[in-house]
Amino acid sequence: MKLTLVLTVISCYFLLCSECIRADGDGDVYQVGLGMADITGPVAEVNFMGYAKIGQDGSGIHLRLYSRAFYIQDSNGSCVLYINCDIQSIDQLVRKMVLNKLSETYGKKFDESNVMIAATHTHSGPGGYLQYLLFTILSRGFNKQSTDAVVDGIVESVHRAHANIIPSKLLLTQGQVKDASVNRSPASYLLNPPEERAKYSSDVDTTMYLVKFIDANNMKLRAIISWFPVHPVSMNNTNTLVSSDNKGLASLIVEHVMNNMTEIHGPSNSFIASFSNMNAGDVSPNTRGPRCIDTGEPCDYVTSTCSDGKSAKCIAFGPGRNMEESTYIIAEKQASKALELIHDSSHDVAIAGPVSHVHEYVDMSSQSWYDPVHKTNFTTCPHALGYSFAAGTTDGPGAFDFFQGQRNSTTLWNVFRNFLGKPDQQMIECHYPKPILLATGRIRIPYAWAPSILPTQVIRIGQLVLVGIPGEPTTMAGRRIVKAVTEAVESVTSTRQASDITVIPHGYVNGYSDYIATYEEYQLQRYEGANTAYGPRTLDAYMRQFAKLARGVFTDTRDIPFGPEPPFMLKQQISWYTDVILDRHPILKKFGQVIEQPHVNYTLGETVVAQFVGAHPNNNILPTYLSVEKLSPEDATWKLVATDASFNTKFHWKRDSTILALSTVTIEFTPNEEGVYRINYFGTSRSLIGKLTNFTGRTRQFTVTEN
Ligand code: ZN
Repeated sequence: MKLTLVLTVISCYFLLCSECIRADGDGDVYQVGLGMADITGPVAEVNFMGYAKIGQDGSGIHLRLYSRAFYIQDSNGSCVLYINCDIQSIDQLVRKMVLNKLSETYGKKFDESNVMIAATHTHSGPGGYLQYLLFTILSRGFNKQSTDAVVDGIVESVHRAHANIIPSKLLLTQGQVKDASVNRSPASYLLNPPEERAKYSSDVDTTMYLVKFIDANNMKLRAIISWFPVHPVSMNNTNTLVSSDNKGLASLIVEHVMNNMTEIHGPSNSFIASFSNMNAGDVSPNTRGPRCIDTGEPCDYVTSTCSDGKSAKCIAFGPGRNMEESTYIIAEKQASKALELIHDSSHDVAIAGPVSHVHEYVDMSSQSWYDPVHKTNFTTCPHALGYSFAAGTTDGPGAFDFFQGQRNSTTLWNVFRNFLGKPDQQMIECHYPKPILLATGRIRIPYAWAPSILPTQVIRIGQLVLVGIPGEPTTMAGRRIVKAVTEAVESVTSTRQASDITVIPHGYVNGYSDYIATYEEYQLQRYEGANTAYGPRTLDAYMRQFAKLARGVFTDTRDIPFGPEPPFMLKQQISWYTDVILDRHPILKKFGQVIEQPHVNYTLGETVVAQFVGAHPNNNILPTYLSVEKLSPEDATWKLVATDASFNTKFHWKRDSTILALSTVTIEFTPNEEGVYRINYFGTSRSLIGKLTNFTGRTRQFTVTEN
């Protein structure tokens, strides 16, 4: 199998080199703790957060979701927590719940200012954990299981990080990742000024930044964080298996290689590899680009429509033959670059300098300032989404008759809009040329649909500056934020210090407020512009804000106020989810019984399939719903070689009959090695009176040979 071959080759090559890390320069010693925990949550019948597609509900597991936590403290005791989660976005609800739980253990050690929680932005995870109704209304509202899994998992990852703090050196490096991303709205990008575009060789950022965490005692590499902008939408909106997509798989590949695992059964907690996102608002992993799926012809460049005038048939495809292969290819490109940078120490810069942090809540719906360049006042607007919001993107088009670049409204949809919440003339003019489809900032029934108050944060670790952006900046928006932050640092420090810093425009951090396009991109009203929720000057407001925070983080963090406190709306949440009522098994069968046994013999490369009498997985959130065991030839015992976290297994659950409460579980396993195996299924059934009963199913053994 191709995957095995690639892993074996990179394993042999790179394992040697984790031993030969050297830290040049005078880098400081930091106290660093690392932790990782599962945040997968309910894998069945919960709508996925990302594509906003009704009916895209979970039905099993492709790849598990994790939180990866990094505790970093300087010699003066100033510390930050950086957490990256395999999740679509982070919301005020989850963040506040995490901070409240952390305070139970750590008192006042952690707060908004020194905790940065980032999302990879995978679109294949269970939703229902965001507090604003816009983000849950299509996914049947709030989901407690999903929220608890995310909150508890993040907190657990922090506990683990806090429990293994040791002196460490940090090295910063970078490299180029080619052919892993394309701009999905090039027509918008081209509206940016030519002189600005001329400074960049591409309409996407291809630099991967990478920090190595090295044990200061033995100089062994303990962990990495990499940043590279790309949407984790390799798994498309037809997928119903929970998946961490290309970012999560890149983490698993690097952790697998660095932990020297011979088989894959989920990552261990020894080596941790975070693949974090950046300014990926307009960046797609679907590198073959969009086509009209009915004719094979290119879609319209500006509107992403096909011959029917709609965008529903304009879909972009990844480099692989199917979405799983595309996920692997895009993951492998990121993982390979990270492994190469791990191996190559020639560009390493030792990190030195203080750990500091600033944070301010800002009301993005009502920012106002005088712009000296344009000699006029700029304002932001209450949250609203344009018509092209409903067109979706070429990575996951929407329904109805919407298209991208829509700058006119229609009477019919305006009636619908006004019924929900009518924008006044001032709001309409503020968002111009965006035709407002949803005046989300005005809708408060049954509670707020969209945020107004958002978290903004800058963390400094020596020369590394993380700009925590609560949304999705496009490529050029991210570059402008970097420029604004760099100039701000230059204004308060020496030129040398300013030229040494590396600024990461880190999207998907702490909160979620849709997209941030440049003023010029906004004019076209493609998806990213239509979703730039606070109007055409949204980016300018963020640039001002992050410049202010950057000055603060390099001078006196006490200058930054707390800002208006955003609402915490856990109690108001409504949910249309229903609990599992009952599981039954067919007459004369029992739970876990094998319905379809594997064949007796397989050759390598073939996929083994087994079917069981199943029960609803949400009855009990298990660490794994399956295990694959291999018979050890030495001592004739069964050894665990794969779980549902492994990327050579898939766990499928299907409700055969809702009325009869029957379900089937199908497990797929693609062996990497010859041997004798068996597959176990773990489940929990629910009786009508709510009694939960654990059970196990096991296949007969089967043999895998080379040919
Ligand atoms: Zn996105």
